[in-house]
Amino acid sequence: MQDIIIALDGYSGCGKSSTAKEVAKALKYTYLDSGAMYRAVTLYFLRHQVNLQDSEVVAEALDAINIRFSRNEDSLLNETYLNGENVEEEIRKMEVSKNVSAVSALPVVRKKMVSQQRALGKDKRVVMDGRDIGSHVFPEAELKIFMTADLKVRAERRMKELAEKGGGASLEEIENNLRERDKLDSSRAQSPLIRTEDAIEIDTTYLNFDEQVKKIVDLAKKLIER
Ligand code: C5P
Repeated sequence: MQDIIIALDGYSGCGKSSTAKEVAKALKYTYLDSGAMYRAVTLYFLRHQVNLQDSEVVAEALDAINIRFSRNEDSLLNETYLNGENVEEEIRKMEVSKNVSAVSALPVVRKKMVSQQRALGKDKRVVMDGRDIGSHVFPEAELKIFMTADLKVRAERRMKELAEKGGGASLEEIENNLRERDKLDSSRAQSPLIRTEDAIEIDTTYLNFDEQVKKIVDLAKKLIER
């Protein structure tokens, strides 16, 4: 038996978080949502009207931010706290989605988040999802998955998810946001979204949820039980 790190990267809205959560549950591993950290920083920046062009103001704001995850004892899932406030719902809103890629492209923001992510994963037994987990945060991760799915399918799934939470974004707005984030996340200078050569690609367009979870759990078990 060996403890491993599972890195799950890919485009926006292709089911990384929900898949990662189930994989973690099946393996009794911890699920860590790196996107939630960038979203929490973005929420803080929006609330405090931080000017992204002003590096001093950005650095000061970053110093004032504390992000942690805490388990919700009802859902048994980790929720995101920004300076002690549970922001799990707030960070999923469209306003944050529209601004997060610009914030996450800032090198100082990435530096702080990556160092926290590495600390959270230092004892392994984690499933972390994001954009640069296999390429930059944990290049030594034992299992790297790169998830993709057709843009239209992703937008429809996201719309359903948001509608269940009472969010009122239109399909067009969601599709545009996913497209825009993919573009910015893939083209930024620092640790852009890329598929590394050692990552296993899973296209979820025609897979059902249980199939994609099983695929990853089976791959992980082979490594864990080796
Ligand atoms: O995973 P999620 O869609 O919640 O991520 C929100 C945004 O955070 C992404 O669009 C990307 O800009 C940023 N992100 C990142 N690196 C990660 C995870 C997320 O740049 N590892």
